[in-house]
Amino acid sequence: MYTLTPMRAFFAFKPKPEICLNIESWRRLNWPLLARPVPVANYHMTLAFLGDINEPQLEALIDKTSTLELPSFKLTLDTTGFWSKTGILWLGPSTPPAALNQLAQALGSVASSCQLPVARSQFKPHLTLARRVNPPPGAPLQLPEFSCACSSFALFESSQGKHGVSYHTVAEWALHPSAGKRQLNQS
Ligand code: ATP
Ligand code: MG
Repeated sequence: MYTLTPMRAFFAFKPKPEICLNIESWRRLNWPLLARPVPVANYHMTLAFLGDINEPQLEALIDKTSTLELPSFKLTLDTTGFWSKTGILWLGPSTPPAALNQLAQALGSVASSCQLPVARSQFKPHLTLARRVNPPPGAPLQLPEFSCACSSFALFESSQGKHGVSYHTVAEWALHPSAGKRQLNQS
């Protein structure tokens, strides 16, 4: 028996809390006056956005993702950008590692196989720092240089609440330098 309520879901990578806190301190120093900064607890890099999924799709996504065997990698967040249409100010890698693109592509294929098409050609790795930024922000005084070990990724549920959006980890998987991947937990 399946529950009927769909969940809004996405695959993402979350840097470790101490790195997120360093990013937030740097953001506050360099852009102190943004009206809608993303709370540090919400920092993440989306790997594949799924939209609304139902329970059979969730089960299939978890099963298929658990069979993937992909390597861990180092990610250096060393560039910023601004998308004027949405006012999104972001931090990202100037040179995305091949393994990051490979991971996003693999998750896109998993999604497609669960009847959840993901626009893979548009994958632009970024961590959103603030939304609806207006006027366009200037360049940061201090260039960013945040190194993250990307050794796991997760499937998140996105929920809108009174105090804005929050993300709940539904399942998490480890990436390994050589071995295959194993699922860490599931709730
Ligand atoms: P809010 O929508 O309240 O501003 P949010 O965008 O972080 O917050 P969601 O809309 O649930 O929350 O999105 C979760 C993640 O998926 C975010 O990283 C968001 O940028 C990304 N995302 C949302 N919609 C799409 C889409 N259509 N295509 C690609 N990525 C998306
Ligand atoms: Mg959104």
